[in-house]
Amino acid sequence: EPKSSNKSASLTSQQVVDITRQHNYGTWRFQKGWNPMHIADAEGCTIVDGAGKRYLDFSSQLMCSNLGHKNQAVIDAIARQAQELSYAMPGYATTARAELSQLLLEVLPKGISKFFFTTSGTEANEAAFKIARMYTGKTKIIARYRSYHGSTAGSIAATGDPRRWAMEPGGKGPGVLFAPEVHCYKCPIKHTYPGCGIACADYIEHMIRNESDVAAVLVEPIVGTNGVIVPPEEYMPKLRRICDEYGVLLIADEVMTGWGRTGEWFAMNHWGVVPDILVTAKGITSAYVPLGLCATSEKIADFFQDHYFAHGHTYEAHPLTLAPAVATIREMQRLGLVERARERAPYVEGKLKELKAKHPSIGDVRGKGLFWAVDLVKDRTTKEPFNTYSDKVSGKPLLVDQIAAKILADGVTIQAWVSHFVVAPPLIVTKEQIDL
Ligand code: PLP
Repeated sequence: EPKSSNKSASLTSQQVVDITRQHNYGTWRFQKGWNPMHIADAEGCTIVDGAGKRYLDFSSQLMCSNLGHKNQAVIDAIARQAQELSYAMPGYATTARAELSQLLLEVLPKGISKFFFTTSGTEANEAAFKIARMYTGKTKIIARYRSYHGSTAGSIAATGDPRRWAMEPGGKGPGVLFAPEVHCYKCPIKHTYPGCGIACADYIEHMIRNESDVAAVLVEPIVGTNGVIVPPEEYMPKLRRICDEYGVLLIADEVMTGWGRTGEWFAMNHWGVVPDILVTAKGITSAYVPLGLCATSEKIADFFQDHYFAHGHTYEAHPLTLAPAVATIREMQRLGLVERARERAPYVEGKLKELKAKHPSIGDVRGKGLFWAVDLVKDRTTKEPFNTYSDKVSGKPLLVDQIAAKILADGVTIQAWVSHFVVAPPLIVTKEQIDL
């Protein structure tokens, strides 16, 4: 029975798995069939199981380990901060907070300059909704189908996928409305790009006109979990114009798309659009520690000069979460990882298109930077997905899971979601690893 390779391990690998399985919820699966892999070690783009077998991580865990594992600068920043100051109430100024704020001004879209730090993307979205409602004095938020914004009451209410349904009735809202997703491969309103004139954005304008009280439009600039869906070039600028015309805030949820993942620091940069509120998490610390950020424009910040900002958490701006973010951003700058994601994109795209040419079950490959989806269909003409969400929750074996298991046996891990894979390796990935 191998011990895990961690020097500090006190349990055998089998004990680690058994205790975890017995006393933890195995989300997204029947508890009785849950047999989690023991991750004992990780370095760079590689994770190591309890038996010492190595795997290339081709989805950066949950699309978050962008720098890869065991980055010494980030590890040192955590250790240093723990020794200097491990906690301070959010009402205080700290060096880590000031340093991170300065760096954020360098990398965020220009004009986004006031920050609220949380410990997850979910909480950062909750803060964004509250800020949007306080600032506008309005309540409704227009989100889109095929979106994911988090799992707490407010963020799941704004999530346009079936995970929300478990919270209903009552969980939808108050005041969340859903617009059709922008998805040119399978347009929900049956248009064809570019002849459509971006009718999905017009639809949102129609909603704003026919609803009173709309505070904000909430978008993932590139839809993540639900299929790495890249909008057409004109969509985001058009949405910006519509929001400006009606005095509605534009919230960009860049939890997954931020931090170089798409070949820009933030995905909104692809279209030169600055949102009013930018929400992010994951890659901000490359997932070394949990940190979320809700960042707003100066005009929103000004409003709170003389309006009470009734919000906050015990772990808000926790120094141990902020110091590694400073180190992560500096490492990204030093290694040129945003540029690297952009440069590697055509290579990944080429490889995925080779796969598509070989396998009729692949209906579409799409993405940007180092953020791609491989979409499985029953039939390329009808584009019917190979599996559905109902298959997943009924426990039917999914093709994506079967393929992922085969790939895992060959030494690569990849995120599989209902009927697509998310290909999102750490930004330090090499060409040889992409070939593998
Ligand atoms: N928003 C988006 C776009 C996400 O992809 C996620 C998580 O995957 C979240 C919000 C929630 O972030 P967290 O899991 O850090 O709470």
